[in-house]
Amino acid sequence: MTALNIHILLKIKKYHAKRYKSIVFNMLFLRRMKKKYGTLHCVYCNCYVQVMKLGEPLKRSIMATVDHYLPKATHPELEFDESNLRVCCDKCNAKKGSKIWQEKYPYP
Ligand SMILES: [Zn+2]
Repeated sequence: MTALNIHILLKIKKYHAKRYKSIVFNMLFLRRMKKKYGTLHCVYCNCYVQVMKLGEPLKRSIMATVDHYLPKATHPELEFDESNLRVCCDKCNAKKGSKIWQEKYPYP
């Protein structure tokens, strides 16, 4: 089991600035959603998800991820547009890929 490691994050910051910006942006989005709603769920399957903390072992089955409703591949200009972001579980995010899915369990 791997952990979200601060040393790996710092390496990413050094060599992959755009990727780092995206990781931090997504992490801050998830934290704001957690603060606003208390508990988080996947907008596509309604499963419970949790915001992972640095240094904590990754629990992929309940890990909150950020989905881009309109995919980054076709709408790169919306990568950092919060209105295009959705809370999503790891499994749905991997399945969805660059498709557009309708949210079944949207946040109010
Ligand atoms: Zn899901």
